[in-house]
Amino acid sequence: MSVFKSYKTTCSYCGVGCGIIAKKDPKGAITVEGDPDHPVNRGMLCSKGMNLHHVVQDKSDRILYPEMRWSKGHERQRVSWDQALDRATSVFDTIIKKYGPDSVGFYVSGQCLTEEYYLVNKLTKGFIGTNNIDTNSRLCMSSAVVGYKQALGEDSVPISYEDIELADCFMIAGANPAWCHPILFRRIEAHKERKPNTKIIVVDPRKTPSCDIADLHLQIFPGTDVILYNAIAKRLIDRKKIDKQFITNHTDDFEKLKTTLQSVSLSDSAKACGVTVADIKKAATYIADAKGFITLWAMGLNQSSIGVNKNNALLNLSLLTGHIGKPGSGPFSLTGQPNAMGGREVGGMANLLAAHRDLGNDEHRREVANFWGGKEISPKPGYTATEMFDALENGKLKAVWIICTNPLVSLPNSNKVEKALQNAKFVVVQDISHRAETLEFADLVLPAAGWAEKEGTMTNSERRITYLNKVVDPPGEALPDVEILWKFAQRMGYKGFDYTSAEEVYKEHCRLTKGTSIDVSGLSYSRLKMEGSFQWPVPESNHSGTPRLFEDKKFYTDTGNAKFIVPKFNKPTSELLTEKHPLILTTGRVRDQWHTRTKTGKVNKLITHIPDPYLEINQVDAFLRKLKDGDIAVVESRRGKVQVKVKVSDNIGKGVVFLPMHWGKVMGNDYGRANNLTTDILDPISKEPDFKYSAVQVSKF
Ligand code: SF4
Repeated sequence: MSVFKSYKTTCSYCGVGCGIIAKKDPKGAITVEGDPDHPVNRGMLCSKGMNLHHVVQDKSDRILYPEMRWSKGHERQRVSWDQALDRATSVFDTIIKKYGPDSVGFYVSGQCLTEEYYLVNKLTKGFIGTNNIDTNSRLCMSSAVVGYKQALGEDSVPISYEDIELADCFMIAGANPAWCHPILFRRIEAHKERKPNTKIIVVDPRKTPSCDIADLHLQIFPGTDVILYNAIAKRLIDRKKIDKQFITNHTDDFEKLKTTLQSVSLSDSAKACGVTVADIKKAATYIADAKGFITLWAMGLNQSSIGVNKNNALLNLSLLTGHIGKPGSGPFSLTGQPNAMGGREVGGMANLLAAHRDLGNDEHRREVANFWGGKEISPKPGYTATEMFDALENGKLKAVWIICTNPLVSLPNSNKVEKALQNAKFVVVQDISHRAETLEFADLVLPAAGWAEKEGTMTNSERRITYLNKVVDPPGEALPDVEILWKFAQRMGYKGFDYTSAEEVYKEHCRLTKGTSIDVSGLSYSRLKMEGSFQWPVPESNHSGTPRLFEDKKFYTDTGNAKFIVPKFNKPTSELLTEKHPLILTTGRVRDQWHTRTKTGKVNKLITHIPDPYLEINQVDAFLRKLKDGDIAVVESRRGKVQVKVKVSDNIGKGVVFLPMHWGKVMGNDYGRANNLTTDILDPISKEPDFKYSAVQVSKF
């Protein structure tokens, strides 16, 4: 008999959501392996997932007990949980009484479990009485959320990973799944190996490892995506390669789109995008010939001042060809974080309401407020991620409670974020690791339990909900985030927070979804433990989940039809390039690092892949600046500058440079800290920052 005890759980990194079996030996040491029975990864894990146990095992960086300081000039000191929570309660209570509920806010994370997201949303919107609860998912998927809502009537990913093996054309747009969603990419790769006629189109200003399997790489200029998708749409319409029956019976506003696209010229579009007319035609032909067509996209589309337009233009290609609600077809946004979807389900953003209800709808707000038994919910959206830090800087927001995220490194325009945190009256940081740079500004630090140290649920990119087991106890005095939140709410005197387990929180969340489009009232911890993962909706206790949405061609819009949203032509709304700042900086991820490296940065096996930040620059741009591979360059924008090692490469076009987004301060200085440079211009609707387009200059150090 094995001395190991096995626990089924889920990887806590990207939105692919791979199943993991964690094995614990009698001394409490754990190892991980891919779950061969899990429908997502079928036993596979990428380098990050494979090394998750090191993150749990290595406690050297862990926050072990609460710390507090009485004033900004003092050092933080160890305190008891009672002292810490009493202080949080008294400061929040005082500020709320003096300045009103909108003077406080919570900034959370797509890595939070659904139960944590649910509770912080209930606490903020239902009891404190403000909608100032936003998340780092704002930096990730909010443009896709708006795109889905506008076109399909709901924030609903229509398809499943099982559709991958049924498709014969993929358009991977603004994403590098080979590095950022590796197991999903392996499935596409394996499918193409089995069916070599499968066509893969990659749209990206950089030649990334995802291009290795591409039949066509459209290396567009940054920001020209809408022009490209409109040109492809125009070609499909002109060649009558559209699904007329689907368009007539199940969509609205096709004529509007057609009329708008009449003026589109393929040659002008090709020139604007930096690709050839022949390649635009080839992309249209691949799509036209496909029996199953899937679009996959991520931050290249979403993190843009026109992120919603880009999403709309891409969604139109699926609607024009009727590739939605059928096997092997559909639009498929790739969530960056493991539970960005779960967060959206509980309404954990400043403009959302629980269970995909609408914050602007009086009836919906009443329903949720009655269910919670707290205050009336305000219709006014709260501060979104960057707005929250603007409000800290200008003094409108006095206190912020940051959970499981490191905004000092991850938000754009870091120097501004630093000033905002300095200006805040009270900063709470609830985290697992001392490696989070934001701790520098914390007045109160609360030690949280990490992955494998608590139970809960998450939803991956394909709407799949899985249960995460508790495998080991958290170190020191660390507590599960749900427990910290309900203890705080109880101290604030709020009713309805007398939980004793995460399961009770989950049950309440499931009840609140009853009758909505994301109904999971048929789910429970026992079903998830016994039967495995489920894709929502799961409206009955004998329902087996919903792998594909819209098979009945009924959409969630007023008319029941999907809508063509006519994307506005791409007027430049990004930062202007000038003689002083003539290059476009785009940022992104590297294969083995995750977010701000608080977890992956301490795992030796992951550091070796790319140990340091680097600037990818085209040969011509490097030559003009007398830069060689390995030189140190200074990169400067209107907001700040950094030094970083140069990597000269033909994988990036002339006029564009790339920096990985993971690094904050290295050895106390700003070496390679990408967000010193990035702009905080937002998409006007989704409020997602334009991380992929900042004007910079590069020179030799
Ligand atoms: Fe984890 Fe994503 Fe890798 Fe799967 S693909 S093991 S979810 S990081």
